[in-house]
Formats: sequence, structure tokens, C-alpha cells
Amino acid sequence: MIRLTNVCKTYCGKKRKKTTGIETKALVDVSLILPDSGLIFLTGKSGSGKSTLLNLTGGLDSADSGEISFNGKSFSSFSPKDYDAYRNAYVGFVFQEFNLIESISVRDNLSLALSLQRQEEKEEKIREALAEVDLAGFEDRHIDELSGGQKQRVAIARALIKKPQVILADEPTGSLDSKTSADIFSLFARLAKDRLVLV
Ligand code: ADP
Ligand code: MG
Repeated sequence: MIRLTNVCKTYCGKKRKKTTGIETKALVDVSLILPDSGLIFLTGKSGSGKSTLLNLTGGLDSADSGEISFNGKSFSSFSPKDYDAYRNAYVGFVFQEFNLIESISVRDNLSLALSLQRQEEKEEKIREALAEVDLAGFEDRHIDELSGGQKQRVAIARALIKKPQVILADEPTGSLDSKTSADIFSLFARLAKDRLVLV
């Protein structure tokens, strides 16, 4: 379970020549409990703080005040090593723009997420992750030979490859057509049966 308690985040814009930095209150006193599994949608207009909340939840950025805890352990008690382990093993990220390397193969994109593991282990994990997103056998395809929906499924396979308990997906269908988006959401619904998927 992830629990956010009175989380605040304010961005201080850069000082420019004629203006001082502009402060933006992105999150004000946000409290939220997220369960261990299920598909949860966080909605709100552009600029309302959705990405900020995902980034804080994923440990990519830190809150100014308030507390975030994962399975009862507060982020503030995490050592740098705990933080790395959390970002690496417990959460997987999926982005609107896929963030894949276009010129290399599906296999090479996925192996980058497994850099320190043995080759045979990698192959097995890549095969499993691709099967989970209905792309079995796509190892040798290059990213620039895939459709948008297939690219996003490769990105989801990459997020899944370390078997995280939480998947954080920031507007994952923002660059896909509506039919492809519906397919991605049914995939998320399936994956959310035994993990949390926060969109
Ligand atoms: P959303 O994802 O809901 O569109 P964001 O979390 O990206 O919203 O942004 C929330 C607010 O914080 C917005 O007003 C945005 O302009 C501001 N903001 C986001 N990131 C930064 C940043 N790095 N520096 C300054 N302001 C930011
Ligand atoms: Mg956003």
C-alpha cells in the first residue's frame, strides 16, 4: 500500500533577466491511499499536478512536506540504497512518448533494463515480459518498425520486466488513437489484477 499524507510540492521557477522565479504550488496537502492492486485513474485538467504526483510516488522527485510511505515504510526513512531499490524493483514507469531507443531491437531495449543480469536469465525474462503484453516473438524487431500501440506495449514490457508491484503510467495513451488506447487499457486492466497500475 502506498500512502500519501498532506503532501505539498511547490516549484520555484528559474530567475530570468526581468522576472524573479515564479512559484507554482503543484500539490497542496494531498492525502491519498493507494491499494496493492487495481487500476486507478488520476484525472484532472492540464497543470493540475498529476505528473508531479506520479513523480513523487515513484521516487523520482521529493515532496517539500508531508509524508509518502510504501508498505508502511516512510520515504523519509529510506537510505539512498532503499530509494534506488524502490525505483528499480518496486515501481515501473510508462510514459506518453514511450522513451524507447528507436534504432535498436526490442530485445536490446528490454535488456537495458536488466543490465547486470546473466544473458540466459535476461532472455527468459524478456520472453516472459513480451508474452505478457501479447508480443511473443518480437525480440528481433526494431522499434522503428513497430506501430505506436506495439511500441507502448514494448514500453509496458520494459516496465514489467523486474516484476514491480506498482506501474506508474503518465498519459500512456496520449499519442495513440482511440482503438489502440482501448487495447492498452484492457492490457492494464489485466495486469492490474495482481499489481497496482496508476494511470
Ligand atoms: P499535469 O501533469 O496535471 O498536467 P504537472 O504536475 O505537470 O501537471 O504540473 C503541475 C504544475 O506545476 C503546473 O502548473 C506546472 O506548470 C508546474 N510545474 C511542473 N513541473 C515544473 C517544473 N519543473 N518547474 C516549474 N513548474 C513546474
Ligand atoms: Mg502531466
